[in-house]
Formats: sequence, C-alpha cells, structure tokens
Amino acid sequence: MSIVAIVGRPNVGKSTLFNRLIQRREAIVDATSGVTRDRHYGKTDWNGKEFTVIDTGGYVKGSDDVFQDEIDKQVVLAIEESDVILFMVDVESGITGMDEDVANLLRRSDKPVFLVVNKVDSATRVADATEFYALGLGEYYTLSSINGSGTGELLDALVEKLPNEEEKEEDELPRFAVVGRPNAGKSSFINALIGKDRYIVTDVAGTTRDSIDTRYNRFGFEFNLVDTAGIRRKTKVKEDIEFYSVMRSVRAIEHCDVCIVMLDATRGFDGQVQNIFWLAERNRKGIVILVNKWDLVEKETQTMKEYEETIRRQMEPFTDVPIIFISVLNKQRIYKAIETAVEVYQNRSKRIKTSELNEVLLPIIDRYPPPAYKAKYVKIKFITQLPTPQPQFAFFCNLPQYVKDPYKRFLENKLREEFDFTGVPISVYMRKK
Ligand code: GDP
Ligand code: GDP
Repeated sequence: MSIVAIVGRPNVGKSTLFNRLIQRREAIVDATSGVTRDRHYGKTDWNGKEFTVIDTGGYVKGSDDVFQDEIDKQVVLAIEESDVILFMVDVESGITGMDEDVANLLRRSDKPVFLVVNKVDSATRVADATEFYALGLGEYYTLSSINGSGTGELLDALVEKLPNEEEKEEDELPRFAVVGRPNAGKSSFINALIGKDRYIVTDVAGTTRDSIDTRYNRFGFEFNLVDTAGIRRKTKVKEDIEFYSVMRSVRAIEHCDVCIVMLDATRGFDGQVQNIFWLAERNRKGIVILVNKWDLVEKETQTMKEYEETIRRQMEPFTDVPIIFISVLNKQRIYKAIETAVEVYQNRSKRIKTSELNEVLLPIIDRYPPPAYKAKYVKIKFITQLPTPQPQFAFFCNLPQYVKDPYKRFLENKLREEFDFTGVPISVYMRKK
C-alpha cells in the first residue's frame, strides 16, 4: 500500500489534517479492536484508492523549540520511505526560515511533493497564499484542515500520483520482514540468516517502483526478505530516533506476509515494540516474536516460562503467537526462528474446505450456541472461509446483529483450537442468511 507522509514545521496543522483524513476509518477500527493505537499512523481512502498516512509531526516533542535538524531528518526519511509527500505551510505566519530549509530538501527529491498551504479558512486568505510561490515548489493547494475546505481537491490530485497497487508477485514465496527497535539485533540476525552474498538469489523486480524485496535461499527454505534495517542501503540518518524505526517498520510491515518482531531480552516487550506488534496485527500479517540476546539474561528454571507469560499478557487478546528465545550472538535457535516464520506463513495461507469447517464447528456451536438476545435465538447455519489473502470466516445465520464480541471470540478460539492458526490474526464475520 502507498505511504503518504505529512511534513512541515510544528504548528502548521499537520495533526489536524491527519486526524481529518483518518477519522472515518479510525472509528471503524475502534469498534472492532479496542486496542491502543499509534496515533500518528493510519489508513484512509479516496476515490476507492486506499493509502497510509503518516503524521511526522507527532514525533517531535515540545513543539515550540524544535531544532531544524530534527525536522530535516524527518524530511529526509519521508523522502526515502514514502511515495508522496505533503509539505504543509501556514498562511497565518507566512514563509519562515524553517519552511525554506524544508523546501530546499524537497526540491532535490524525485518523489512527488504537494505544497499545502493550510489555515486558509476564508476566501480573503486565498490571496495571501501566493507568497508561497517563492518556495520554488510550483503550484500549491490551499486548504483549511479545521473546516475541511480544499481537502477534496488536494486528495483528488494526490491519489492520481499514487503508484498503482503492486501486482501480486509471480512467485508465492513467503515475504518476511524483521522489525523492532533499533539495536535489538535485527541486522545481526539478518546477516546470520543470509550468510554470504551467494545466498542471494535475485532482486525481485518491482513493477511500479524500486523493489524492496530480495530473494534468499537458506536452510533449505526459499523466501523473500523485505528490506528494513538498511542492510542494503545505509541511510545518512542515525538510527537512534524513534521516528526512523517507525517509518521503516510501517513500510516493511505493509509489504510482508510475516513480521518477525525482534526484541532485546534486556529491554522486554516495551511500548515501542508493542506499537510495532499492533501495527502488524492491524495489518493482518503473520507474526513471530523473537526475544534476542537471551545470552545476556541470568537464568533460573522458570525464567523463560515467566518471561513468556509476561509478554503474552501484554499481547491480549491476540496471544496465539509463537515466542522464541534466541541468541544471534551464539547462533542459538536461528534455524528454529526461520522455520517458525515459514509455519506461520503456511498458517496464514491455509484454506479450509467448507465441508470440513461445518463438520467440525457446527456440532460445537450446537453444544454452545450464541446466547439469546432480547428473547431471540440466533441460529448459525453454515460457515465458510472467504477467499482473502489472510484467514477470514463468514458465519451465516438468521440474526447476525445479535451475535456479540464475546461469542465471536469464542468462535475464533475454536477455529484456533481445531485448525492451527498460530501467529495469524483471523477475522470472524456474522452474515445474514
Ligand atoms: P502540527 O504541529 O503541525 O501537527 O499542528 P496542529 O495540527 O497541532 O495544529 C496547530 C494549531 O493550528 C492548532 O491550534 C490547530 O487548531 C490550528 N490549526 C490547524 N489547522 C488549522 C486551520 O485550517 N485553520 C486554523 N485557523 N487553524 C488551524
Ligand atoms: P539492529 O539495530 O536491530 O540492526 O541491531 P544490530 O544487529 O546492529 O545489533 C545491535 C547490537 O547488539 C550489536 O552490538 C550486536 O553485536 C548486539 N547483538 C545482536 N545480537 C546479540 C545477541 O544475541 N546477544 C548479544 N549479547 N548481543 C547481540
């Protein structure tokens, strides 16, 4: 999916526009998941084209005295990692030195840039916007993020510039992405995994843009690795900023089938790793958790079990995920990690025949039917798996609206018990029949 980044100095209105763009969708997400969200990242669509929006401003703290340096880094990353850039300026304040700096960076990039003049709340301000021609970025769009005027025109033009959805890759090889905080050991893991260059089979040719997949053949498995940690191109920007890893993760997660979420055993499953985990879950990707640097942890008999339980509690309600303790340093369980990722990939592409689903699940449903609601009985008649890339199941019944979340979770758990879906988010829908 395409990524659109909103850049600009603080207080021009980036978050306001971001919220306006993803509002509608967030409401839908909220109703179904109830999980904490990363507030600076969301999906939206316009004219039937879906894309991801990133509010880069959310990563700058203390918005009054931000260093130019910080903004510049974000712009450089946005240029590298997104498909289209919205550069926002503020008609109230006019052009500032910071705006000029950002414009200089953007003029040198070959990504499409939209200059967006915000806070044009009334017709009288339209004329004031002409001063922004001086930034040397050509045409601009005027809008008011607060009242929404002008956003339609901007979005029309924006979706025109989005690359077409990538055609499905010819090969059906698993696409893995290794994601996590800086310093978790991702690059070391990838190096251990792929060994020398001779294991690289080929760069899979991208259809509409630079490919970020490389094909590997290792341990008897063939897979594509989605480039994340900058193994192939080191960016000029230092890796220790949160924004960097989030931006990289978003892109990698969007492009993979299975996310290998790596954490540093000495730091645990902390907030930033949790964000990445939920990002993968929300994108309905397969997930494997690797707890790396296990060699650094003082161990007693119960240490691993307790560590694992702590992580699982933080993953609720999606706890059916493999957790593997590894040490890249000692080459411990590296093979197991990749083998598990392949299994998760297979679980995600699993198709269960309608006859089998019904044979297994209908008797269970008979024994534990949905609770009556307002004295009405729900009768589930049959179940089928939908033809989607990831597991989704439709339960056909007389009164779908009366089946509440707890019962849907019960059905999901039964699906997990009866058919192995470890590591894979699954969706359960009630449909009218
Ligand atoms: P960010 O730091 O770039 O993310 O900016 P915010 O979205 O936090 O907005 C900064 C301030 O500008 C807030 O007080 C917003 O209410 C205000 N603002 C945002 N968009 C508009 C707009 O279209 N018109 C006006 N008048 N104010 C706006
Ligand atoms: P990345 O930023 O996630 O790519 O992390 P790196 O692969 O650059 O690793 C960060 C640091 O952790 C380096 O100094 C590695 O040598 C070290 N490291 C990686 N894996 C292990 C491990 O299993 N055990 C220990 N003790 N150190 C590790």
